[in-house]
Amino acid sequence: MFLEGKKAVVTGAGRGIGRAIALALAGHGSDVAVLDMDEAGAGETAGLIERTGRKSLALGVNVSSLTAVEEAINKILDLWSSIDIVVNNAGITRDNLLVRMKEDEWDSVIAVNLKGSFNLSKAVARSMMKQRSGCIVNIASIIGMMGNAGQANYAASKGGLIALTKSLAKEMAPRGIRVNAVAPGFIATDMTDKIPEKLRDEMVSAIPLGRMGEPDDIAAVVSFLTSPSASYITGQVIVVDGGMYI
Ligand code: NAP
Repeated sequence: MFLEGKKAVVTGAGRGIGRAIALALAGHGSDVAVLDMDEAGAGETAGLIERTGRKSLALGVNVSSLTAVEEAINKILDLWSSIDIVVNNAGITRDNLLVRMKEDEWDSVIAVNLKGSFNLSKAVARSMMKQRSGCIVNIASIIGMMGNAGQANYAASKGGLIALTKSLAKEMAPRGIRVNAVAPGFIATDMTDKIPEKLRDEMVSAIPLGRMGEPDDIAAVVSFLTSPSASYITGQVIVVDGGMYI
């Protein structure tokens, strides 16, 4: 129970990878606030956490709005007094080839995937700096490292997120705050369920370990990064992809 007494915030935790991360952190002893666009999904995750004996809180928040994020963080700080861990997991795709990509498809992906993490980090920074400890984990993607046709917006948002991770790691290390990223490969969630079966099979055949990842594969690495075993790790990107990007 290395997270006993800790308070965590996980975004996009109403389903998929975010839910797995929220449950894993609770399993290691942390109370977890669940933020998601979908308040019902967030409520379901919070219910599952409470069943493990930990405290939870479900908040319907659009992470692309700094005002909404600041309100949510202030509400959590009022109730719980401190926040030790933030996992920026909320993310979307709006895939299209460049010539067909609409301005809104570019803007919305950058707003959620990149600005959302800036918003959360900014909203918790003062309280973490005051307590001289904290851990931020950003969920990036191997697409942010290798690029992908039809995903210029998504790749740019995740590449930007990796750069944000490294910059904040340097900026916040003197105050005892660690900032890292996890870059998943191809993980079985609603996000990848949209991909046509034939293309999915082709993608799986390009994975050396021969299978799609599970949300728990990502949650395990996020848990490690929040643990005392990772106390000397900051500014890193941990790839969890079954060898897809070697
Ligand atoms: P998912 O199943 O689509 O779940 C994403 C969650 O984020 C949903 O609960 C969604 O809420 C929420 N969300 C979306 N926009 C939001 C916003 N503006 N504010 C707050 N919450 C918002 O996706 P996933 O596969 O679990 O992905 C989680 C993260 O991992 C994302 O950052 C994704 O880019 C990254 N990732 C995934 C894969 C993969 O293969 N699945 C690979 C690499 C990286 P709604 O239910 O309201 O939509």
